[in-house]
Amino acid sequence: MPSLYLDHAATTPMVESALIAMTNQLAVLGNPSSLHTHGRATRKTLEDSREVLAKEVGCLPSEVIFTASGTEANNIALKGLYWAGRDNGKNIVVISSIEHHAILDPAHWLATHEGAEVLQIPVSDDGVIDLVFLKNLVAKRGNEIAVISVMHANNETGVIQPITEVVQIAGQIPVHTDAVQSFKKLPLSFSRLGVTAMSLSAHKIGGPLGIGALILKRTVEIPSLLHGGGQEREIRSGTLNAPGIVGFATAVTSSDYNAGAVTDLRDRFISSVQALIPDAVINGLASERLPGIVNVTFPGTQSDTLLLLMDAQHISCSTGSACSAGVHEASHVLLAMGHSEITAQSSLRFSFGATSTASDCDFVVSVLPDVIARGRAANLT
Ligand code: PLP
Repeated sequence: MPSLYLDHAATTPMVESALIAMTNQLAVLGNPSSLHTHGRATRKTLEDSREVLAKEVGCLPSEVIFTASGTEANNIALKGLYWAGRDNGKNIVVISSIEHHAILDPAHWLATHEGAEVLQIPVSDDGVIDLVFLKNLVAKRGNEIAVISVMHANNETGVIQPITEVVQIAGQIPVHTDAVQSFKKLPLSFSRLGVTAMSLSAHKIGGPLGIGALILKRTVEIPSLLHGGGQEREIRSGTLNAPGIVGFATAVTSSDYNAGAVTDLRDRFISSVQALIPDAVINGLASERLPGIVNVTFPGTQSDTLLLLMDAQHISCSTGSACSAGVHEASHVLLAMGHSEITAQSSLRFSFGATSTASDCDFVVSVLPDVIARGRAANLT
């Protein structure tokens, strides 16, 4: 029986050339902060990688701050921009109601520990932020807002957010965008978007785990979370992870992700689901979405049961929502889009990627009616 991986939004297989480049770099000696020949050689490799990333995302090399993850980039940006704003008498943090926990939780932390007032931008039933709400908020309380953070594309539904409009409405207020899911899936330019800060992560694009980046405007100074050797503009101290960075840059240039082909797979899958399970709801269907993500509600089922039934068929997919002490909570994203607790807990996320094929799609479709029938039967008992 084939084993199918349809969870590319969680993490992706490493691109072979990135794996080789990273492995080779692991054998290279030299701390990039050292001034001797070994150190300078590692520094050169690292700065070449920084340039590759900067070119890809349309920013200056000095605007790339390497981190250990997308989560870390989000934390540095949100907390740093909040603290910088608070020094100027601004204490409001604005986020969307569908952010990843790597923004939601630091925002909550800022509210409980650092005196922030956190306001959430609601979304439509199709998962797009309410720009009118944001416009009114900025008009009324703009001079109190330290930072606005809205993700570029949502990790559960794939719905793309209107970041250019957010930046226009924000005016002088710093805007951060979490582009972890959209990087290499959509055209992405830091300078064209006009945001102040943007988060990226290597393992979502065929690069290694444990390396991410915060892109931060050159002119912006923010307090640091980590203090030490003063690396990365003194914003992110710590010896740079040269093998991870080399792997990241190699994945950036050699990823064979074909957005058109992945979109075709996604749409082939959606049409089959709609034909076979007529009451299934494709979440965010009316909105512009990432090529690879499909989030489906199957009424009368339980996400956890479906996940295990899929796993028994050797298919890896996701419930999309957070797990707390082994129990799945209803997804805050689906709740924000108007779902009830019950329907939000009847949903699965399938995410296609560079290595997905039409036969992967067809195999899932072939087992789907039985999985859903069993899931419904289990839900009745
Ligand atoms: N932001 C989004 C939208 C994500 O999907 C993820 C990972 O799932 C993250 C941030 C966190 O990235 P990392 O796994 O690199 O910490």
